[in-house]
Order: sequence, then structure tokens, then C-alpha cells
Amino acid sequence: MFGKGILKGLGITLGHLRDTFVDDRKDVPSRYQDSIKLEDGRRIMRQPGSQEGLLTLQYPEEKRLLPERFRYIPMLLFDTEKNEDRCTACGICAKVCPPQCIWIVRDTDANGKPVTRPAEFYIDAAVCMSCSFCAEFCPFDAIRMNHDYELAVYDRYPQLVYDKVELTVPLEYYAALWPTQFAEEQQRRAEEEAAEKAKAEAKAKAEAEKKAAAALAAAAAASGAPASAGAGSEGAKAQRSPAEVEAMKKMAAERAAAAKARAGGAAPAAELPVESAVAPEVSAAPAGDSDAEAAAKKARIEEMKRKAQEAAARRKAES
Ligand code: SF4
Ligand code: SF4
Repeated sequence: MFGKGILKGLGITLGHLRDTFVDDRKDVPSRYQDSIKLEDGRRIMRQPGSQEGLLTLQYPEEKRLLPERFRYIPMLLFDTEKNEDRCTACGICAKVCPPQCIWIVRDTDANGKPVTRPAEFYIDAAVCMSCSFCAEFCPFDAIRMNHDYELAVYDRYPQLVYDKVELTVPLEYYAALWPTQFAEEQQRRAEEEAAEKAKAEAKAKAEAEKKAAAALAAAAAASGAPASAGAGSEGAKAQRSPAEVEAMKKMAAERAAAAKARAGGAAPAAELPVESAVAPEVSAAPAGDSDAEAAAKKARIEEMKRKAQEAAARRKAES
């Protein structure tokens, strides 16, 4: 029983040895045929998922091809098209960083006013734990995770405290390391920019219409013409020129005075309320006509009451 486990382990090792030779034979003409040769002579090796055997890398001459989502130390992106840093020095990454290894100093303009640009940006790579929180929380897609893990130095400080210059990489470098994520981000950013542009255009159009309506109303008020003519907006319709208001008041007063005179009692026009201009025909109606109208109205109401009572009695009988 004791020797059985040892034999089983040796069998597994032997199987790996065999697979390695078989894979090497399958990779003819060379295991380097799919590798990427760098300018300095080093190679980046791919190991396909179908490969069963062990792939021995001659590091540092050879390196394994890293998956896209591999992450090590963050990098700051420089937009080469716009010729500016994407970072706005908002400080969100520094706030969310669990070991607090990010320091940011915001830049200022000539008057000392803070601007949306970092003057200094430091990351202590010896403390960074590659969690990628900074990259995930950055609202401007300005910080992403680098793949470069060959950071060996003799002294931790200051060599492992990276400043803005050391952290900054062009956007193309990020696009090469993270092609899928970069493409998704570019599409999202284009959609957001288009939506913002459409919103700004709609707002500008609404502002222009509002200004035009206000200018039209002001012009109508100044000329004394009816403001509603062609105004096309509620604000313009509500406008009355002073001359127009005076004329309406005068006309209402005259009509009310005439009505009073017909009814037997004359009242001074000046004492009449302005509200009479709203419905002068009510107060101008002869007293006899008003009595007849009131009687007719009363009769109509009585008739409606009677019908309602009948309907209620019928419903009660049916139920
Ligand atoms: S990297 Fe992003 S989250 Fe950090 S300060 Fe710059 S814009 Fe803000
Ligand atoms: S990867 Fe994590 S630990 Fe490193 S700087 Fe970003 S938030 Fe901080």
C-alpha cells in the first residue's frame, strides 16, 4: 500500500514527460513558431490550451504571453489624439485605494486656481496590491492596469514610488495590452459623447426659442399691438399693452354705466370695478330679463331634481 502511492506519482510525472515530448513533436517545425519576437531579442511565448505537456520557458529570454486581464501596477493614460492626460485629478482612485498608496497633487492655473489636471501623481508600487479598484472606479477611464511585472530594483525607496512621468503611457499602449476592453470603452465613450452632444443641441435650441419668444413679446408690448398675434407662446399671449388695458377699462366702464342707466340707477363710471371688463354683458342685462332667466334656471334645476329622485326610486324598486 505504501509503495503504490509513490508509483502512482511517478506515473503522473512520466505521463507529463511523455506529453511534453509528444507536444514538442507536434509543434514541428518549432515551438517558437507562434511566439512574438521583441526588438531586444526576447520572445513572448504562447502556450495553447490544447497543449498537455510542460512548456519550459527560458526566462528571461522568453516570457509567457499574458492574458488580457492580467494586472500588475496601474498606469495613467495619455490621450494622444487630444494631446492631454485623461486624468482630471478628481481623487476618486486615491480615496478607494485600500492600502492608500496613491498621492495626487492637483495643478493650478496662473492665478493659483485649481484646474482639472494632476501636477503630481504618485503610486507606491511596493504597497500596491494590484486590486484594480482605482481602474474600476475612475470615472474618466484615465487609469488602467499595466502588464509590466519586471520591476526589480535594489532600493525600494524611491525607485518603487512611481511618479506621473513613469506612470504615464500613451493610449495606444493600453489599446495593445487590453484590445477587447479598449474597444468596448471606445464604443461606450462615443455613445456617451453623442448623447451629450444631442442634449446640448436640444438645450441650445430651447434657449434660442425662449429668447426669440421673449424678444417678440417685448416688441409687441413696445408697439402696442396685440401680443398674441403670431407670438406662438403662452408668455406672449399674456402680454397687454398699457394703452390696450386703458381702452378696455374705459369700454367696460361705459357699458356698465349704460346698463345701470337702463335699469334706473346711474353709477359714476370711475367707481366701477375693473372686473366688469371680463363679463360686462352679465351686469349689462336688463333687470326684467334677469328675473326671467333666474326663473327658467330654477325650473330647470327643479326638473333635474325630480328626474334624479325618480331614477333613484326606480333603482331602489329594482334592487
Ligand atoms: S486617475 Fe481617474 S479617479 Fe484617479 S484622479 Fe485621475 S481621473 Fe480621478
Ligand atoms: S491597484 Fe489597488 S492597491 Fe494598487 S493603486 Fe490601484 S487601488 Fe491602490
